Amino acid sequence: MKIAVIGGGASGLMAAIAAKGNGNEVVIYEREKRVGRKLLATGNGRCNMTNIFASEENYYGTEPKFIRGAIEQFWVSETLEFFSGCGVLWKEEKDGKVFPYCDSASAVLDVLRRRAERVGVVVLCNFDVKSIEKKGRTFVVRSYNGQADEFDRVIVATGGKAAPSLGSNGSGYELLKAFGHKITKLKPSLVQIKTETETVKKLKGIKLNATLTIGDRSETGEILFTEYGLSGPPVFSLSANIEGCSTAVMDIMPEYAYVDVLKMIEDRRKADGDIALEDFFTGMINKRVGQAILKDSGAAPLSRCASELTGHELKRIAALIKGWSFQITGTMSWNNAQVTKGGAVTSQFDSTTMQSKLVKGLYACGEVLDIDGDCGGYNLQWAWSSGYIAGINAAMPV
Ligand SMILES: Cc1cc2nc3c(=O)[nH]c(=O)nc-3n(C[C@H](O)[C@H](O)[C@H](O)COP(=O)(O)OP(=O)(O)OC[C@H]3O[C@@H](n4cnc5c(N)ncnc54)[C@H](O)[C@@H]3O)c2cc1C
Repeated sequence: MKIAVIGGGASGLMAAIAAKGNGNEVVIYEREKRVGRKLLATGNGRCNMTNIFASEENYYGTEPKFIRGAIEQFWVSETLEFFSGCGVLWKEEKDGKVFPYCDSASAVLDVLRRRAERVGVVVLCNFDVKSIEKKGRTFVVRSYNGQADEFDRVIVATGGKAAPSLGSNGSGYELLKAFGHKITKLKPSLVQIKTETETVKKLKGIKLNATLTIGDRSETGEILFTEYGLSGPPVFSLSANIEGCSTAVMDIMPEYAYVDVLKMIEDRRKADGDIALEDFFTGMINKRVGQAILKDSGAAPLSRCASELTGHELKRIAALIKGWSFQITGTMSWNNAQVTKGGAVTSQFDSTTMQSKLVKGLYACGEVLDIDGDCGGYNLQWAWSSGYIAGINAAMPV
């Protein structure tokens, strides 16, 4: 049987390796010069390949329970077993994040390429798939430059629209639409948030461990102030949540309750009443962040003595430390996004095989489907799992 895999990213490489059993002929078509370019960029070049704690709660989409089929068949332990079998020594870091022990994303890509080559997968790069047509029981895969080939099964593993410079330009949606598949609204996710810049610009480069709340969701972790707004894992995780929300609220001392913070700054005023406000927070929180909070609370000028702070001002300052608001103006673009929120409607696919319910022999996996995960290894886990299941099932004799 001949199987085409459209896209040589995380899910496509896994699908092709899994499909290669039973003497099948498997071809990966990749529009870029090389397969797996995005994989090299993952985890800041370290590849956060999965998360030990990955569960249904970490995934979003119109129908997140679609991932149950993957959880039951090929999930974190099977993935780690697969990569160990390919020679990847891995390590677990904070919050269950898994990385290759050598801290190099290229190691993950290299073992996938080596395994694909060893089992005999054919990889055709610079092949931008323009269309897939079904003629009887045969699929015709055609490129923009007129090349064409025939297949018994096709797996669409093109990724979504995020980070188009790494290959995934949204073309997979068009390929699926041609077969009648519906695509949900698409939004960049795991992306930086743009805010009004007056405060953030001045704090550019400062990182804080804080809790960020947007709408009804909160995330704690390292938040980075940037030229245009906020970045960092909690920001990424909440970025798809901003629709209808005008503010991001930051608690910069999440370990302490409001009353404890108030007591702390009251004690500081008592102990160091003679110091200027610009040094009031030295030793407690980041000095520049402290100064920005004092300004936002209306306590400026910072040349004032700490002893001059009124009880009312101290309450306003403590309230800002526990809930500092930033006006949201949008998100950065697809170029900066790590994943796509939305995709091919999952109710049109079988969650246990990844086969289209509309077209026999057509499969899809990875980010092109309407499933996205939190920041922390969850999106690659979905790519590995859905890719493996699509590959194994596409390889089954009729
Ligand atoms: C900067 C960055 C860092 C990230 N870090 C992490 C991380 O550490 N952990 C994590 O879990 N997730 C991370 N992600 C998300 C994760 O990389 C993706 O969710 C995952 O790669 C999706 O896999 P995929 O196979 O569906 O798509 P992709 O990996 O995007 O692969 C799709 C492939 O298909 C090719 N293609 C597209 N259209 C066509 C066509 N018409 N013809 C031929 N080829 C085509 C593309 O060139 C591409 O190679 C990160 C993403 C980015 C952008």
